Amino acid sequence: MELAFTDHLKAFREEIRSWLEKNLPKEALQTFDTEEGFQQHREWEAKLNEGRWGMVTWPQELGGRGCDLIEWLIFEEEYYRAEAPLRVNQNGIFLLGPTLMEYGTEEQKKRILPKMATGEEVWAQGWSEPNAGSDMAAIRAKAELQGDYYIVNGQKTWSTRAVWADWCFGMFRTDPQSERHRGLTFILIPLNLAGITVRPIPQLDGLPGFAEIFFDNVKVPVENRLGGEGEGWKVAMATAGFERGLMLRSPARFQETARRLINLYKENQESADRDPSVRDAVIRSYLDAEAYTLTTYQTACRLVKGGKIGAESSTNKIFWSELDQKMHETAMSILSARAELLPHAPAAGGVGKWLDGFMFAQSGPIYAGTNEIQRNIIAERMLGMPRA
Ligand SMILES: Cc1cc2nc3c(=O)[nH]c(=O)nc-3n(C[C@H](O)[C@H](O)[C@H](O)COP(=O)(O)OP(=O)(O)OC[C@H]3O[C@@H](n4cnc5c(N)ncnc54)[C@H](O)[C@@H]3O)c2cc1C
Repeated sequence: MELAFTDHLKAFREEIRSWLEKNLPKEALQTFDTEEGFQQHREWEAKLNEGRWGMVTWPQELGGRGCDLIEWLIFEEEYYRAEAPLRVNQNGIFLLGPTLMEYGTEEQKKRILPKMATGEEVWAQGWSEPNAGSDMAAIRAKAELQGDYYIVNGQKTWSTRAVWADWCFGMFRTDPQSERHRGLTFILIPLNLAGITVRPIPQLDGLPGFAEIFFDNVKVPVENRLGGEGEGWKVAMATAGFERGLMLRSPARFQETARRLINLYKENQESADRDPSVRDAVIRSYLDAEAYTLTTYQTACRLVKGGKIGAESSTNKIFWSELDQKMHETAMSILSARAELLPHAPAAGGVGKWLDGFMFAQSGPIYAGTNEIQRNIIAERMLGMPRA
């Protein structure tokens, strides 16, 4: 076995690195959980698209580079290494985009994908409801077909970045007699239609990172349906596959955090060494990030050759979300009293990013299917244990 990159992959890495060096914003963008920051990130999406670095795995004719998963992992390594901005349209590019390529009509692809790629239209995911989170088949928001329109009523919640997003994709009950996962339909809805109210929800840091979306007799053209009527569950499972599979959180994100953690430890070594378990935790973080990287390369090689990921994506999700929490907890221990400084606090210097990351890490075991649900999947589908 030779664990080395080919010349083609080395050249590819070089190409991304030099593009990012030339094009990265000179100053860090504001968080996309503010209106101004959202706009800045939208402009960055346009810039990435100009360089054809926005959606590297999309086919070339759609503005992508047709990259395979190995090239994508390399792209991500360079992207995180350069500390490039987070992707404001990730729900569009990584979730809805691939779903549209599989289930969309030619007309839908032509209308939606180019504007998604430039960031002109940013997408939010409208799946969760107050009583339908883990149990998504309990969805109650409904869409009733009347002539050429669906009349949509109900509520969605926890919709990330919906406050300033332009569209949402969601599942709605189109057959009022139906139960559970039958009778649901996948519908694409512009958030500026009459009858829609988007109400911000503050996150732990107080910024409106989520929203509730209320639909009150909203008229949505029938051509906004993705897939057939009543086929929403099947379409959504394809989307969830993209979300929970390899692409939601690449190893590069955690390698970068591990690198920053090692630097933080070195800068504060004298105080950090008062508790020997801190040093061990720093080393463990590095090793775990490397282990996740190697495992992901192994899985990616298998998938490139036509293999499937299956329930293994659940073990990945638990591993990276818990690793993220542990790394940020270790950083909090090193920073001690300074750990409580928010990024905009005058005394924060460069350390505020850790508290931000610590708060966000708490949500890792919840979004994209909670870790309890992932453990159920592992028990039932990987280990063949009886249903709880
Ligand atoms: C940062 C973040 C971003 C999000 N973004 C979006 C978004 O953009 N769009 C969207 O639609 N949703 C989004 N969500 C919502 C997310 O999908 C839900 O929070 C998640 O699915 C859990 O649903 P819930 O909050 O209703 O909790 P519940 O389903 O009520 O679960 C509560 C607790 O019970 C446990 N539990 C539930 N059922 C079982 C079971 N069968 N076995 C064992 N334990 C169980 C859960 O694991 C959890 O600990 C986001 C959430 C977060 C944290």
